[in-house]
Amino acid sequence: MDSTGKLYCAWCGGPLERKLAQGEYRLCCQGCGRISYENPITGVAGIILSPAGEILLGRRAGGETMEGKWCIPCGHVEYNEDIRQALVREMWEETGFWVNPVSVYTAYSNFHEPQVHSTGIWFLTEICGGCCRSGDDISEVRFFTGGCLPELAFVTDRLVIERLRQENLLKE
Ligand SMILES: [Zn+2]
Repeated sequence: MDSTGKLYCAWCGGPLERKLAQGEYRLCCQGCGRISYENPITGVAGIILSPAGEILLGRRAGGETMEGKWCIPCGHVEYNEDIRQALVREMWEETGFWVNPVSVYTAYSNFHEPQVHSTGIWFLTEICGGCCRSGDDISEVRFFTGGCLPELAFVTDRLVIERLRQENLLKE
């Protein structure tokens, strides 16, 4: 992409234009004719529950999507990075806790950012070290009960938290 937002072909450098191809409007190269397929980014989110049954949420820092609102700590998996390693890294960067990914809790497609479609995977985790401190794109981290939640940034986090409440994993 250049400064005007124009996209270029990764193979030949030709300009890309959205055209009907294989049933969808896709980015097609004006030079070589190849299609640049767009795929969702993979996101991971870590559910940390305190022994009392509260959930750890992070407040999104300035400059981030949904600044000032709260989310289950999360981040993107990097290319060539193992998905569980990405979770451990993101949780360390954002919350100060080292966690063990215990199990996959659920998965959703995130459409909240029109420019970035992501596939999110929520893991149940347990703390194995570190201590609570906010970092990276999170300005504050705190534990919340189900009955006293702050304003949430993402609709999919709301679905996850609703299920935790229904399953009595999150204290009211
Ligand atoms: Zn091309």
